[in-house]
Formats: sequence, structure tokens, C-alpha cells
Amino acid sequence: MADRVDMFINGQKCQASDGATLEVLNPATNELLAQVPAGTAEDVQQAVGAATEAHESGEWRSMPAADRGSVLLKAAEIITSRADEFARMETMDVGKPIIESEAFDIPMAAEHLTYYGRLVVDLLGETIPAMPGVLDYTLREPMGVIGGIIPWNFPCVLACRKLGPALAAGNCVVIKPATWAPLTTLMLADVFQEAGLPSGVLNIVSGSGETVGAALTDHPAVRKVSFTGSTEVGCTIMRRASDEAKCVSLEMGGKSPAVVLADADIDGAVEGITFGAFLAQGECCCAATRVCIDASVHDEFVEKFVAKTKAIQVGDPLDPDTKMGPLVHREHWQSVSDYIKKGVDEGATILCGGPDKPTGLEAGNYLSPTIFANVTPDMTIYREEIFGPVITITAFEGIDALAQAANDTDYGLAASIWTQDLRDAHNLAAQIAAGTIWLNVHNFVFSQAPYGGYKQSGIGRELGREGLLAYTETKTVIAWLADEPFAWY
Ligand code: NAD
Repeated sequence: MADRVDMFINGQKCQASDGATLEVLNPATNELLAQVPAGTAEDVQQAVGAATEAHESGEWRSMPAADRGSVLLKAAEIITSRADEFARMETMDVGKPIIESEAFDIPMAAEHLTYYGRLVVDLLGETIPAMPGVLDYTLREPMGVIGGIIPWNFPCVLACRKLGPALAAGNCVVIKPATWAPLTTLMLADVFQEAGLPSGVLNIVSGSGETVGAALTDHPAVRKVSFTGSTEVGCTIMRRASDEAKCVSLEMGGKSPAVVLADADIDGAVEGITFGAFLAQGECCCAATRVCIDASVHDEFVEKFVAKTKAIQVGDPLDPDTKMGPLVHREHWQSVSDYIKKGVDEGATILCGGPDKPTGLEAGNYLSPTIFANVTPDMTIYREEIFGPVITITAFEGIDALAQAANDTDYGLAASIWTQDLRDAHNLAAQIAAGTIWLNVHNFVFSQAPYGGYKQSGIGRELGREGLLAYTETKTVIAWLADEPFAWY
């Protein structure tokens, strides 16, 4: 019998108000991993009610910033002390290799909380010397109740990326975990309770996007919806949030280019782009999905990249030798497989991988990493976010054509540039419309560095100081200090 996991409202573990559950499957086997509450609109009402009451009580937001920070630091310590358990659960839930969960996901989740736990003591207002006899200053205040909506690809990291700054700034939060991979997000309830977070400040309601996500977005007491997920759902949330003039932050899809110039260190580019392309089975918003390469180095790059990719060990994600696990869900597997078939139908050439499950791995949602050559910019696989281990390679003549190719997309989340020429690197970095530009590396994210998208990849930034300010309202206070009252009439 699989575990029946609880959600968390007002400091209490609970099931859905109507008792309904959702099945969470292990993507490596498609067997039942756990049952989680299928939250209802009534549950969202309860959770937002608890968060509102916690906000109005003032206990959390009036606490000295350093004390709020201490709760976050304690939560980070607890995650670190339970890192093996968190990593194993993330791997079983999402399908990512255990070595990735251990090296990246869980340490980074703890690191986000640590960063904001420390930064919050520096959440300062300004004094504004507007005119003599007037004191003008600003306060950074919490917004109130925040709704956080999480996708399935990095569930623990992305929940902590929202909880760190939102809680540090003194807000109360209702989190909706990813439907297909909710388990580590639900585990955060115990972490924060043990860390001493007052009841009602954090609530976690699992369930579907259409029910829980929509009810959270629509609830009038939610002042900000902080969403990470697809561009399609993000735009729906933005439309719905506009009815109540809610603030939104949207971290959405991508189709990030890796731009390889003629003078690139090809061996270094092959290493870096393999990591950029296939980390987390390519189910990564900023994955290097489009290699745009100077024609003069195309053949050498392709030969080495294909050899490297064929050597990636696909298999049981709990095996420490595995470098690529299964895709998160059989529905998603089908979608990625269909994109691969479409690439072939539209005339691209498969150099390795393909649309079928690798032999011996039929029970899980496995695909081999797939590289397409002879890809033209009009093809679907070049334009749409596939969100799996599928990479296109297209040759261009010279740096201007490469710059144009990099920007020939509706998305603008990230890009990497591969060159040994400093001047070209920085000039191109200035020209590409994307929120993160990597030079000779791909897929590096730091708590201190703002992260987010241009164009249809998003609105707002998470991480860094900007990420903390994004969970505050600015209040300007203007005080008349002169002895005589201000008089006009
Ligand atoms: P998704 O948009 O399908 O779902 C994201 C979340 O939104 C889930 O919790 C889902 O249940 C919820 N949701 C669905 N419909 C909703 C609705 N009508 N109202 C409110 N909430 C709703 O995305 P996904 O498949 O979970 O994740 C993959 C997508 O996320 C990709 O497009 C990827 O690029 C993007 N992503 C972006 C970033 C980033 O930082 N930019 C990071 C990770 C993932």
C-alpha cells in the first residue's frame, strides 16, 4: 500500500475536504508511489483564511527581521540534515538521477532559504532628501498573502525559491505543489513547523491546477501570485489575476540557444552543452535546446557531441551511475515522443536517440537523449518548447547571423555563448534578449543572481536582492517637520 500523504493548513496536517486523492506515480516504473489530497476550492478557502488571519495577527510580519531569518536558517539546516531522504524522494517523484538530486536540487533548496534568511536583515528603506523641512522615507512592507504555484521539474528548489524571499519579507503563503510531483513540497510542512514558523504562515494545498491553482489565483485575499510553469498557464493566471489587480510574477517556458562561435573551444563547448541540454532529462526551463553554431565548426562539434551524448547512461534514477532518468509522467513522455516524430516528418535528421523507449526500460517513461541535425528555423522542433532530452543543431554563417538566430524566438529565458574572444562574448551578451546569458557555461543558477525571462519567458525576477524586493510593497512616508504648519489657502 502506497503512502497516503497529508497536506498542511493552519499548522495542521489534513486530507481534502471531500476526502478525494490524487495518485502520484513513480516515473521509473509507473507504479503507485503515494496518494496525496486532491485539494478543493473549500480547502483553498481554508488555507487563504488561515494565511490572512496569520498576517493580520502581525506575529510574523512584526517579528524582528533577524528572527524571521533565523527560522529560515533553521529550516535550511533541517533540509540539509534530511538531505538523503529529500533527494531520494525527489528522484522517485520526478525521475531525475539521484546524483543530481543530491548534488543540485536539495543543496540548492537549502541554499535559497539560507540566502534569504541572511539577506532579510538588509531589507532597508530609503531616506529621500526631497526638500528642506520635510522627512521623506520609504518602508518595505510585506504584501500579505502570497499564492505560490510550483511546476514538477525542480519542485523542492522552486518551492524554496518562493518561500525564502516571501517568508523573509514577512508574508504568509499558500503553496500549491506540482500535480505530478508534489511530495518534497509537502515534506516542507514538517520542516517549517520544526523550524518554529507560526501556524498559518505557511499552508500547502495539493491538487490539480484547474481546481487548487485556479481557486488560489481567484481568491480576493491573495495579493500576489508567484507562478513557475508553462507560458500557456502563466498567461491564464495573469488574465485571471487582473480581475483583482493582483501582482503576478511569472517564470515561464524557454527555448534557450547555445550559440557556438567559430573560435570556440569545441571540447569545452561539447562538455558544457551536454550538461546544459540534458540535465534533468532536458526537463529544464533554461535547457540548451537549440544549438546555433558557426558553419565552420559544425561538423567537428556534431561528431563530438553525438559521441558524448551516446555515452550518457539512461536508466534507474536511483542507481548512482545513472545520468538520465525517466521523464516525469507517461503523458509527458508521449508529448516529447510526438515532437521527435514531428521533427522527422518535417525533414530533420536524427543523429542519436529517437521517439521510442530504450530496450529493457519499457516499464518507465524513458527516452534516449536525442539530437537532430539539418534543422531549419521554420521547424516545430526549433520553435516550440519540447521540455525533454531533444536538441536541435543548426548551422549559420558568422556572428551576425548567430545573433539573429539566438533572438529568433518568442522566448527569452536564457542563452549561452561559446567563444574564446572576450569582445565577441560581451557584445553578443548585450545583443541577446534573455534574462540570463552564460559565457562558456550553461545552466548555472545562484541564489544571489536575479533569474527570470524576457518576452514570453516571464515577468519579474526571482533570486537575488530583486527577488526579495519582489515580495514587498514600498510605502513612502512624507513628514512635515517645520514649526509652522503648511498653508496654501
Ligand atoms: P504547468 O504550467 O502545466 O503547471 C505549473 C503549475 O501550474 C502546476 O502546479 C499546475 O498544477 C498549475 N496549474 C495548471 N493549470 C492552472 C490554472 N488554470 N491555474 C492555476 N494553476 C494552474 O507547467 P509544468 O508542466 O508543471 O512545468 C513545465 C513548465 O514550467 C515548462 O514550460 C517550463 O519551461 C516551465 N518552468 C519555468 C521555469 C522558470 O524559472 N522560468 C522553471 C521551471 C519550469
